[in-house]
Amino acid sequence: MTEVEVKTGHPKGLWVLFGTEMWERFNFYGMRAILTLFLVNSLLMKEEDASLIYGGFLGLCYLTPMLGGFVADRFFGNRNCILLGGLMMAIGQMLLFASASVFGTDISFATTLMWSALGIIIFGNGFFKPNISSMVGSLYPKQEKSKLDTAFTIFYMGINLGAFLGQLICPIIGDVKDAGGVRDIHAFKWGFLAASIAMLLGTILFYFLKNKYVVTPEGRPLGGLPSKNEASDFEEGESQKAVFSSTALTLAGVAFLALGALIHFVFDQNLIYTLIYSSGLTLAGLIVSDTSLTKIERDRIFVIYIVAFFIIFFWAAFEQAGSSLTFIADNQTDRNFFGWNMPPSMVQIFNGLFVVAFAVPFSMLWDYLRSKNSEPISPMKQAFGLALIALSYFIIAHNVKDLGNSGLLAIKWLILLYLIQTCAELCLSPIGLSLVGKLSPKRFSSLLYGVFFLSNASGYALAGTLGSIMPATGDKFLKAKEMGIDLQAVLDKKITLTAEQAALLSKAQISDHNPMFAGFEVHNLFEFFMVFVVLTGLAAIILFLLTPVLKKMMHGIR
Ligand code: GLN
Repeated sequence: MTEVEVKTGHPKGLWVLFGTEMWERFNFYGMRAILTLFLVNSLLMKEEDASLIYGGFLGLCYLTPMLGGFVADRFFGNRNCILLGGLMMAIGQMLLFASASVFGTDISFATTLMWSALGIIIFGNGFFKPNISSMVGSLYPKQEKSKLDTAFTIFYMGINLGAFLGQLICPIIGDVKDAGGVRDIHAFKWGFLAASIAMLLGTILFYFLKNKYVVTPEGRPLGGLPSKNEASDFEEGESQKAVFSSTALTLAGVAFLALGALIHFVFDQNLIYTLIYSSGLTLAGLIVSDTSLTKIERDRIFVIYIVAFFIIFFWAAFEQAGSSLTFIADNQTDRNFFGWNMPPSMVQIFNGLFVVAFAVPFSMLWDYLRSKNSEPISPMKQAFGLALIALSYFIIAHNVKDLGNSGLLAIKWLILLYLIQTCAELCLSPIGLSLVGKLSPKRFSSLLYGVFFLSNASGYALAGTLGSIMPATGDKFLKAKEMGIDLQAVLDKKITLTAEQAALLSKAQISDHNPMFAGFEVHNLFEFFMVFVVLTGLAAIILFLLTPVLKKMMHGIR
């Protein structure tokens, strides 16, 4: 074919990427649904520690895409990285399956297996995620770039269809309780096995279909080895790579270490969180130190940074789904859903479900507003997303207020929370991705995506810290009562524990004091949720107030 056919529909390759990403997200979100419950119930960790591990793990999953993108660009190409990442994640899930199979006989071996599994998944995700997303972009030749918004909306639905299926299947087979509410702590393995099989399916699907469908309109393969990448003319900006002087790189190295020391020693963050925060800040600084940037380019990059800063609070609040919100669903929720007792890890399924339902209506809403000339600029949409997430926590805070230590939260309030949070996500997440694309000078585009993902990573790390300040839920008060201990009185420091009682509590993973945040004691779930209302609410207001300035700094881009 000599002339590029201008098509009306989307290339078949989009559906191959859709399917591959769907199975990969099945594997990721299915595992995410049951991970913290597995850590607490089978590997006997404290909820607080499980939240911290979860935040660090997710954060690292968004740090490694920098590496995956780099390796693909320089050495292996997108396709190979997707296959490699997919295989690694499938192996990682198998190791989780092994861990969940042997913990009963050898818990320390099981714990080692779990750490290795998370490590492999972190790198697998880093190879897979950036490469599959960038292949969506490269499917479209220049004259069809206007279809990208719709293409990414379809792709985002694939992500969430996968998340939905994973959060359906893995909890059903992995998070099993009997009629008396006693959990089968040996069932988690089936959830991890399902995740592994899903990932293998996705990898096999991609392996067999890529040559036929993931091609240019002329039929040339996309995403091959960098040097032989015949379709490189499709990837805008490929020819213009950022080059930094060795002085700039050395300074960046020094800044990385200095910031790391500050974050670790002064702000008392663990090494993983330190790595995430300090990589993000250093990379951001390195990019703006480039002297070839014009004033307009620099202004636009600062807009990306400002927005990236605010969305940290968004993901920190949003990513309570797999930790504190799952613990609450497990321990203080009436999960009767039309007569069926829903597994606690499944409650987060409503996010994926609502994204699939609302992604298209939302993009139609933006189209409609655009046609009326009243579409808000992207940072305004994101401020709106932050305000919505504050609202979701405000509603839930008021519903837990009068529960006391034994009342149960009705599941409908968690469903409403996920409904509002999904609307918030659709105002912020896809919009953010396309904003970075629009504002970045081509030569810095992948690096700026890196900064953007690092802000996601920072949000996840903060999610871990915030999840770990969840106060005791109903189950803890009940367990303590069975031991003859009035936990409320202990937390209120009205009684002191005997050594024997203290040992009993600690064996049951129950803390004898309330968590602290920024110098404040978090006494109950109401105060816990209000932390998120305040953080995201303030972020929304400040971002909203900044929009006129940001609009100027965007120089015509919306
Ligand atoms: N839920 C989306 C995904 O898994 C977006 C997550 C994010 O950008 N932080 O891809």
